[in-house]
Amino acid sequence: MTFITRFAPSPTGPLHLGHAYSALLAYDMAMAEGGKFLLRIEDIDQSRARPQWEAQIYKDLEWLGLWWPKPVMRQSERQSVYDEALDRLWQLGLLYPCTCNRKDIAAAAAAPQEGSPLLGPDGVIYPGTCRGPWEQVFSDQHQRPQNVPLRLDMEKAVGMVPGLFQNRIVPGKSFASFGSFLETGNGPNGERGLVEFTPDNMVKTIGDVVLSRRGMGTSYHLSVVLDDAAQGVNHVIRGQDLFEATRIHILLQALLHLPHPTYHHHSLIRDEAGKRLAKRDDARAIATYRQDGANPQDIRELVALG
Ligand code: GLU
Repeated sequence: MTFITRFAPSPTGPLHLGHAYSALLAYDMAMAEGGKFLLRIEDIDQSRARPQWEAQIYKDLEWLGLWWPKPVMRQSERQSVYDEALDRLWQLGLLYPCTCNRKDIAAAAAAPQEGSPLLGPDGVIYPGTCRGPWEQVFSDQHQRPQNVPLRLDMEKAVGMVPGLFQNRIVPGKSFASFGSFLETGNGPNGERGLVEFTPDNMVKTIGDVVLSRRGMGTSYHLSVVLDDAAQGVNHVIRGQDLFEATRIHILLQALLHLPHPTYHHHSLIRDEAGKRLAKRDDARAIATYRQDGANPQDIRELVALG
């Protein structure tokens, strides 16, 4: 099987050293395997995506010496694919509309009987405020409601994929059913090899994630699994900040009958103070290094891929 990986930046700011590391690592791993390196522009958030940042991404990556097949996949051109998947999940009864804002969620999650809010991959774990009422209002509707955020009912969803969460007796484990993915890099706590998780853990530590955001018609989680599958990506190489979200991606792949890639999460490039680099951190933008006379080999050395 040909090794196929990708780099999937969002055109919402300049690429910095952290992006250079991720792109170079993915490129090098693909080349070492005689495989393919693809580029995907993750521009679902049209309120933040800008054509000049997309143009700058191409320039920076070419300057770094990378090559990828054209035309590139752009998420903004794939709404019909996302719609189809949302319709399928809606028909399965796994989605419900949610009108809570961040403040409502924080307040409900912090209610005295709930204890302090638990954080999941998408922030505060949703306390389920809209789950009940909306289900009654919408239970007779066959059409997926438009222009309203939709959440995945996690408890129902994990119950729907017995293939993923099979009952298996594992000696020494206190649970008898789980899902898993193969990690060839490192999770934030050194996770490597077969990473296992339980349905209960999905409900308690992730909860009802948003799969269609207001004004976007999709979400990062939904788009990324559909796009990786459409591009034939079988090795996902990306930063450790996305390690926790991988369980969501494995679940969505199972629900939508998509293949599971192997995952390789890499450590994040940090500044001198140990803070991870942000898009607004212009000082470490690749374009800034270039203007200051650096060459691509200097960048490789800076990210220890020299
Ligand atoms: N678009 C995401 C980012 O810029 C990367 C998504 C992924 O690699 O899965 O952080």
